[in-house]
Amino acid sequence: MVTVRTPLLAGNWKMNLDHLQAIAFVQKLAWTLKDAHHDYTQAEVAVFPPFTDLRSVQNLIAADKLDIVYGGQDLSAHDSGAYTGEISGAFLAKLECTYVIVGHSERRQYHGENDELLNAKVKAALKHNVVPVLCVGETAEDLEEFGPSAVPVAQMRAALAGVSADANIVIAYEPVWAIGSGLAATEEQAEQVCAALRVALAEELGTDAAERTRILYGGSVKSTNIAGFMRQTNIDGALVGGASLDVAEFSSIARFQ
Ligand code: PGA
Repeated sequence: MVTVRTPLLAGNWKMNLDHLQAIAFVQKLAWTLKDAHHDYTQAEVAVFPPFTDLRSVQNLIAADKLDIVYGGQDLSAHDSGAYTGEISGAFLAKLECTYVIVGHSERRQYHGENDELLNAKVKAALKHNVVPVLCVGETAEDLEEFGPSAVPVAQMRAALAGVSADANIVIAYEPVWAIGSGLAATEEQAEQVCAALRVALAEELGTDAAERTRILYGGSVKSTNIAGFMRQTNIDGALVGGASLDVAEFSSIARFQ
């Protein structure tokens, strides 16, 4: 049986756009996507605003019934308690977040997030029915030392330890050297790693999970290179940083054909 995976085009805003700017942005994005609706079908469009924007984005999307979903950029491994500055999966669920990014390379790099913590975060997201978008990817040094897929595959296996076979997760392959550098992976490079991730997913969670789970590519995705990535068998969408902050550019990425 061939499973059709719904493409997911996701905008990671990082630390950009306050809640007022977020409202204006999401409104404009919804109009632009609607205008172009004839050639964008069946793809899911998601935005990942800063935490302080989420309530405003939730209200806008609910009030105007917009066809856009959203999520947090991170979550705590804990449910509640004395963890100053942290945001729990329960709070994200209450704000009707569909997704949460887990293990973005900037969190791994600047906040020392390791495999063990990320495994706990994946489980915390699943516990609250928020779909984790687990980011994995190698640095330029890793690439030289270990080749293309060893590090991302090992990161994914570690983060998924003890996760059940029916878990709803998304994997984002984001080579660190491609993030914000303007130097995207080639479609062949990205496909090679995403294919290896899918094989490892089958080993970890079974073939059904591997067939069903969406694997995104991220790292300098733009409207001019998205179509090539989307043509690959094992790439089911993109996690977009810089280019997701421009409405016209991000809506062309969401149309990708
Ligand atoms: P970029 O970022 O598209 O700006 O390279 C991608 C990401 O960090 O998710």
